[in-house]
Amino acid sequence: MDLRGARQLGLRAFRCSLGPYCIRNSRLSTRTSAAGYLREKNIIIMGPPGAGKTTVGRIVAHRLGLPAVDVDDDVLEPTWKMPVAAKLAAVGGERFLEEEGQVLRNFSASGCIVSLTGSNPLHPEAMQHVKQSGAVVYLDVDGEDILQRLHRMKVDRIVGQEAGRSIRDILQYRKQFYERWLDARVLCGRGDTAEEVAEKVLQAVERFHNHAAETYVSTRADGEGSKVHFSDVVVEGLPPDGGLYVPENGFPKIAPREWLRLVGMSYPERALLLLEKCIHPSEVSAVDLREMVYRAYGSNFSTKEVAPVKHLMDSTYVQELFHGPTASFKDLASQLMPQIFAHCLPPMCNYLILVATSGDTGSAVLSGFGGLCDADRRRTAVLVFFPEDGVSHIQKLQMTSLDRSHAKAVSVRSDFDFCQRSIKGMFGEAGLTGHLAVEYGTVLSTANSINWARLLPQVVYHSAAYLNLCRDGVIQFGDPIDVCIPTGNFGNAMSALYAKQMGVPIREVICASNRNRIVSDFVNTGEYDLRKRRLMPSRSPAIDILKSSNLERFVYHVSGGDGPLVKDLFSGLDERRHFSLPEPLLGKLRQEVRADWCSEHDCLAAIRSVRTQAGYVLDTHTAVAKVVADRLRDQTCPVVISSTAHYGKCAPAVFEALQVENIPEDPLEQLRKLQCAASRPGKNRDLMDCLKDRKRREHTVCEADYRVLVEQVESMIQDSFLKVM
Ligand SMILES: *Cc1c(COP(=O)(O)O)cnc(C)c1O
Repeated sequence: MDLRGARQLGLRAFRCSLGPYCIRNSRLSTRTSAAGYLREKNIIIMGPPGAGKTTVGRIVAHRLGLPAVDVDDDVLEPTWKMPVAAKLAAVGGERFLEEEGQVLRNFSASGCIVSLTGSNPLHPEAMQHVKQSGAVVYLDVDGEDILQRLHRMKVDRIVGQEAGRSIRDILQYRKQFYERWLDARVLCGRGDTAEEVAEKVLQAVERFHNHAAETYVSTRADGEGSKVHFSDVVVEGLPPDGGLYVPENGFPKIAPREWLRLVGMSYPERALLLLEKCIHPSEVSAVDLREMVYRAYGSNFSTKEVAPVKHLMDSTYVQELFHGPTASFKDLASQLMPQIFAHCLPPMCNYLILVATSGDTGSAVLSGFGGLCDADRRRTAVLVFFPEDGVSHIQKLQMTSLDRSHAKAVSVRSDFDFCQRSIKGMFGEAGLTGHLAVEYGTVLSTANSINWARLLPQVVYHSAAYLNLCRDGVIQFGDPIDVCIPTGNFGNAMSALYAKQMGVPIREVICASNRNRIVSDFVNTGEYDLRKRRLMPSRSPAIDILKSSNLERFVYHVSGGDGPLVKDLFSGLDERRHFSLPEPLLGKLRQEVRADWCSEHDCLAAIRSVRTQAGYVLDTHTAVAKVVADRLRDQTCPVVISSTAHYGKCAPAVFEALQVENIPEDPLEQLRKLQCAASRPGKNRDLMDCLKDRKRREHTVCEADYRVLVEQVESMIQDSFLKVM
């Protein structure tokens, strides 16, 4: 029986074996059977002073028919035989913490709702002990609410204050301790009542214990298909039926009052809160997730804001997604995804990730996997194949400068398709995969753009864009915005739609194509038709795409999760190179997205005119979005343009647009010259550093021969895994 069942039946289910220091509650003798975890385990409520732990604990206890234990009133005071405040005054903060910890270490209970003190989490041994006895729920209450409550409660002394620190500072300092011990967070909105918080606690505990409910299915599943968990989705990448993984029950919906809490938070804080809601703690614990998020977004971006939103002109804003180590928006996902991936890998094997790239993915993935912690590096490596003459000069420099023993790029004297086909070939060659497994304990894997763990981090920056506009007073929470996105594989656009599902008031997602206009034609006609198209080169190469993979997730969503229909449409695309979306679905799709395309000429003209009007230099992809945004938006709400790359990544095209003569040969000089031409945006730190690094970087160039590529794979495995062992 689950917790909800237990609640409905009003069962009084607990067993309590309180230690010597705990008062006996007369209700503790009642015994019945109910959910196993409630019988064996406690619900432990943690949070700062004034968070409402005692009140909420009592309500939760009452609803479940379980005893409430308040560590202050029921454990510490009876033990010390004096009020807690008197003890603190008598012995001082340090000694107090130690004694308090000792008491907690001797405390044992089960089947209780235990409200900790605000300072318990500062004592590691004591917390380790309590955490074993149940689920620790953190009441994450807004700091200003706390200060008001403490004022009303006339609390003027909490542990740590004797050192002369303000309560505000202490609350801020303590957050890290709460986040070190939590199993589940309850994000309290400002003005939430104790009853509402108690309800959230029950839901949080229910979720914590109900891992099985958060499953993923293939977009092509027929209802019978297997349901898998987060880790499988991340490690497998693709379901066997050729579809894409999506969460079976959609995205968690976040209430406006909770969103408002996020307005004042930093990027990593927001990322942590949102991702906690999307990844079950049994898959990645909140504590591990925190470490990953701070490793990804703490200092790897050249601005603390990570993905700042800047005003461009009238009601047009740009979200700068290019401040990461490789200067494209792919960093937002790639700094986090490899950590999630490494965390989800089953033990015992090594993993070699193979990537084929003709653009921004290669460097972003190398940087992300390159930044893994030592333990993860020992068993996770990445090898990137790129066409020797098929990437820009800067992209090549970026990839080869990121060369490390476990993260390497080699080029091939052929095109992107050959690289891609060769990798596919290796996955399909049982003799090879078997040999690598037996000989080196190594499994081949991909980490491509349709992996769920790459989409998820992107939901965060779309949310952050909206929250920043609220923070800066441009809009109030609830006001609509449009976002406009240069769209290739539809990953960025899909993430915006997911942010909307979580409750971000995005009105329309505007998709911008270049002259390879498959997505915009599809949105406008319902026809996905590859038959008469061939890929045309453009100045925005990252969106030169004819098969927009993540679109399948969107079609699944607008079909209301109709797997058989999606299967029919998309396998039709594979076989007949064409499908057409039935009318009612097309109508639904067009309620959420609009689309148009931008010619090469208009793209360059936009770069020029925006520089003139706003002193801001757009990269070519961003310019495509600017043109389409201007064409499609009405003026009733702000539009945020996803700026997916720094202009320095496509310097030659920007020179062309700005009609600059005498373009220097050297990429570093090119960038310097462009910087003089632009007052905004600022430079990308890592891009400059990469170009400044004058040592000649050698990289391996392979002949266009499948066997040569296989040799590269094998020697990479030898280099990265055998050496460190
Ligand atoms: C990858 C990329 C895109 C396309 O993003 P999708 O999620 O594939 O739509 C757009 N711009 C730049 C600069 C990119 O690197």
